[in-house]
Amino acid sequence: MNFLNGIAASSGIAIAKAYRLVEPDLTFTKKTVEDTGLEIERFQNALNTAKHELEQIRDRANIELGADKAAIFDAHLLVLSDPELISPIEDKIKTDKVNAEPALQETADMFISMFESMDNEYMKERAADIRDVTKRVLSHLLQVQMASPSMINEEVIVVAEDLTPSDTAQLNRQFVKGFTTDIGGRTSHSAIMARSMEIPAVVGTKKATDVIKNSDIVIVDGLKGEVHINPSQELIEDYKRVQQDFENQKAEWAKLVNEKSFSADGHHVELAANIGTPKDLKGVKANGGEGIGLYRTEFLYMGRDQLPTEEEQFESYKAVLEGMEGKPVVVRTLDIGGDKELPYLDLPKEMNPFLGFRAIRLCLEEQDLFRTQLRALLRSSVYGNLKIMFPMISTLQEFRSAKAVLEEERAALLSKGTRVAENIELGIMVEIPSTAVLADQFAKEVDFFSIGTNDLIQYTMAADRMNERVSYLYQPYNPAILRLIKMVIDAAHKEGKWAGMCGEMAGDELAIPILLGLGLDEFSMSATSILKARSQLRRLNKQEMEELAGKVLQMSTTEEVVEAVKAVTDL
Ligand code: PEP
Ligand code: MG
Repeated sequence: MNFLNGIAASSGIAIAKAYRLVEPDLTFTKKTVEDTGLEIERFQNALNTAKHELEQIRDRANIELGADKAAIFDAHLLVLSDPELISPIEDKIKTDKVNAEPALQETADMFISMFESMDNEYMKERAADIRDVTKRVLSHLLQVQMASPSMINEEVIVVAEDLTPSDTAQLNRQFVKGFTTDIGGRTSHSAIMARSMEIPAVVGTKKATDVIKNSDIVIVDGLKGEVHINPSQELIEDYKRVQQDFENQKAEWAKLVNEKSFSADGHHVELAANIGTPKDLKGVKANGGEGIGLYRTEFLYMGRDQLPTEEEQFESYKAVLEGMEGKPVVVRTLDIGGDKELPYLDLPKEMNPFLGFRAIRLCLEEQDLFRTQLRALLRSSVYGNLKIMFPMISTLQEFRSAKAVLEEERAALLSKGTRVAENIELGIMVEIPSTAVLADQFAKEVDFFSIGTNDLIQYTMAADRMNERVSYLYQPYNPAILRLIKMVIDAAHKEGKWAGMCGEMAGDELAIPILLGLGLDEFSMSATSILKARSQLRRLNKQEMEELAGKVLQMSTTEEVVEAVKAVTDL
């Protein structure tokens, strides 16, 4: 098979050889060995190679991801040098006369179950370290390659079943030209990160890891959602031309970087960016973002083995606020859960994580964690134009409780003489149908809404945003979704508040005409979509789009809506 269809997750064309980021087969057989001295030497060699490899990964992580993320690998190195683990393995080889693989696995398993059964966070983390390190040493004993995103040092297309957000964060843009996965949808977090890193990606191909082998030449067409494997020279040449056209188009859009965002008839909207870390600010500036409409703070908590301290958080928020020089910055409080896990919190596995204990639900329960973040945010507020937003609000009571916690922390800081900005706007994400339907009531109490369509669509249509099998139900232009959006925008305006959107739909060229017509005030999207959206807005007439919006709200299917948009725009 040399062609796969998937979901276009991040635009652009990439051509390079494949690098499979999949777990290698680490099965082995237990054998009796005669020369135990030689077997111990084989074990020590594997140990040393693993150490050397980990040192390299740590050094690279230090440069690219910072010291806190690199610390995980230091912990792994410590395990490899721990005589309490290593000596029993060597003893086992000697006394049981077995090969190194079972000696390592059995000894490691004993420590893992011992540490995991302890009611102690630190020991549980050590168990996870031992598990990781054991796999690495085993891979060297078995001479199979462990895939490691941060070890990639040549131009490749990453092929994986799925990429966790922390895998994605480790990808080095210099070498990773594109990626393709078996599962996932346009709004899974790996897709969102690919867009912010400007890495072309096709997700949800169902079989990329089945059919693509290491070193196959692969074309990732992130414009159409296609993957070509070992293509003909002719096809490569065709794609190089598409790639060039895309670059030229980007250069055209780049001319609008310092312009404001106006429609053809002079209506201004704000085009803001979604970011995951302070590092993303560079992209926001390069793409002319007029603000930050969504700072997903959970990325601060990921790819590490303990919670970030108040000080670490404060520094990140301050850096973003200062970097934006007085432009609005909407920071969302921790939204963990769903496809964003924090292994070190050790939360019980759930049947339906997207409907479970996540985001504000978790924060209201685990208040220490929530309060630490709120203190860091309040302290940072004096460095710019901060707005705070709570995720996954489904009842007014949740909003009131979260606000009460914030007010308590504000009062405590003020009583200690700590400075806090006076007018911090407080808003919510509208991601849950109950909140959209009750938006008129919420609008009396919140300062703004930001519509999170990534989740709002999945909850309204009951279609998992990660599941490519039901992706046909993931319908942003379904009139049911459009009516909910209208309810939210109208409710905000009736109370003199503003309504934004930070779901991926805000940057979608087919949705933008309708959203302009519905009166959306702020569109927040991957930074790399901003210039294209600005260029499109300049060609749209707000009054005409109001008419379009009025019509599509009365339609009955997605297809009719798409047709109507195409009929009155140049799409
Ligand atoms: C959303 O749900 O639309 C949203 C922006 O939040 P996230 O994608 O992080 O769930
Ligand atoms: Mg969401």
